[in-house]
Amino acid sequence: MEKYICNTCGYVYDPAIGDSKSNIEPGIPYGALPDDWVCPQCATKKTDFEPETEDGGTMEIPLAVES
Ligand SMILES: [Zn+2]
Repeated sequence: MEKYICNTCGYVYDPAIGDSKSNIEPGIPYGALPDDWVCPQCATKKTDFEPETEDGGTMEIPLAVES
């Protein structure tokens, strides 16, 4: 599933992770987020996110995930 990036702060919405701050469970695609969902870091509107392009070939590996 496609990741989306906040234009304001660079937060990445990863559907595989979801958004625990907004009670978005893992597995919810960006397109299925509620229209009033906002960036958990800066409260930017959903419409100001852009899809992440994966042509750079760089893999981001999270060092630690809070559970
Ligand atoms: Zn943001």
